[in-house]
Amino acid sequence: MGRISWDQYFMAQSHLIALRSTCERLMVGATIVRDKRIIAGGYNGSVAGSAHCIDDGCYVIENHCVRTIHAEINALLQCAKFGVTTEKAEIYVTHFPCLQCCKSIIQAGITKVYYANDYKNHPYALELFNEANVHTEKVPLRKETLSLLMENNSIQ
Ligand SMILES: [Zn+2]
Ligand SMILES: [Zn+2]
Repeated sequence: MGRISWDQYFMAQSHLIALRSTCERLMVGATIVRDKRIIAGGYNGSVAGSAHCIDDGCYVIENHCVRTIHAEINALLQCAKFGVTTEKAEIYVTHFPCLQCCKSIIQAGITKVYYANDYKNHPYALELFNEANVHTEKVPLRKETLSLLMENNSIQ
């Protein structure tokens, strides 16, 4: 048996919450971490109480689904709603953030972005992260993490 790293633990958490996404165009998960503690999580979903893409279909404008709030923004807004600081926090995301999320992440004072999958990594997003001294690093979810999870539990 092994012990998983913090990186794998937080990244696994993001992959798990991604499965709660209500827009199937891209299932994304985000976990905000401060001092090795999870302070918020988010997934791609509609405004609370509104129709879900999985029920009513996507609302597509110019090839983007406008119904959903991105996972990263949802996680940041959860912090805003409950008055939790995001200053010097870190974010673990299943996919490299889009430009809008990139800007919000920087503005919220997050200093590290860990992503599992490349996703249309925009050069301007990278430029903004560099300018703001936000560290970005690819941390793929490892098969060993899932194997350990299976081995340690009776999963049906
Ligand atoms: Zn959608
Ligand atoms: Zn986004």
